[in-house]
Amino acid sequence: MRKKTIDFSKYASIKLGPTLEVSVIENENDAASFDGAIIGGAYNLIITGKNRNLAVLGEEFDYVRSENEKLYVGAAMSGGRLFSFAKKNDLAGFEFLGGLPGTIGGMLSMNAGLKSHEIFNNLLAVKFANGYKQKEDIEHGYRFAHLGSIALEAVFDASKKGFDEALFEELKNARKNQPKNPSAGSCFKNPPGDFAGKLIEEAGLKGYRIGDMAFSEVHANFLVNLGNGKAEDALALIELAQKKVLQKKGVNLELEVKII
Ligand SMILES: Cc1cc2nc3c(=O)[nH]c(=O)nc-3n(C[C@H](O)[C@H](O)[C@H](O)COP(=O)(O)OP(=O)(O)OC[C@H]3O[C@@H](n4cnc5c(N)ncnc54)[C@H](O)[C@@H]3O)c2cc1C
Repeated sequence: MRKKTIDFSKYASIKLGPTLEVSVIENENDAASFDGAIIGGAYNLIITGKNRNLAVLGEEFDYVRSENEKLYVGAAMSGGRLFSFAKKNDLAGFEFLGGLPGTIGGMLSMNAGLKSHEIFNNLLAVKFANGYKQKEDIEHGYRFAHLGSIALEAVFDASKKGFDEALFEELKNARKNQPKNPSAGSCFKNPPGDFAGKLIEEAGLKGYRIGDMAFSEVHANFLVNLGNGKAEDALALIELAQKKVLQKKGVNLELEVKII
């Protein structure tokens, strides 16, 4: 398999991690034979460097094809490009992708979205090295999907016309409370009926800092890198927040960020 070098302190949105040689998956055979961790845009990741068997999808998987009211989208394509395609072609159901960073593969794995708008909503099927799986056969829910292997392509329903500009504006406004510092998005999932940011704040950890990593002053559920943050500091903060929130509020905070 082809290799390439990635400096994760530049590539990952949280701006930390080692420089590693990673495999590049260029076709279905590569995908079938690879047994390490797959990386998308690294907008939801803390890469510690302990696992050195990593891969990314090659540009062969960066495409969108429209056929019979269905979109076939390569898993390496960014959500932003799919958003632009949907807007240009006046398609409904892709508005939430505006401002949501990541690749289609990473978004499928996270069932990424905002409020009730999630990537699985318009999804019909996912292609893997061994063929297509229908959405109904993939267990998924709030910020998770059990894909089981590397997603190569997503098939979306494109039969609904009418890009909803007002919905796009509404969702864009909902992102306004996000900090500008490097982060991996929401650190923890919101527990049922509650908010992780509120719980972290109530545990006294809003703005709390270890090294150059901190729970943001702007929104406590964003673990931000204030300069030269290290993975071990990020992990120490995660452990501290889980411990304090459990002690003070009796709630188990489940990670949304993935640690590789
Ligand atoms: C500023 C900011 C704001 C954000 N806002 C939101 C938001 O509003 N809503 C939201 O849901 N998320 C949000 N996120 C998180 C992020 O956008 C999503 O989690 C997105 O899905 C990450 O995509 P990625 O390609 O970067 O995946 P990565 O971070 O690279 O990987 C995430 C997971 O997906 C897996 N994965 C990646 N590619 C594949 C593949 N091809 N096949 C199978 N598994 C794969 C990885 O192994 C990993 O487990 C935000 C992040 C940032 C930095």
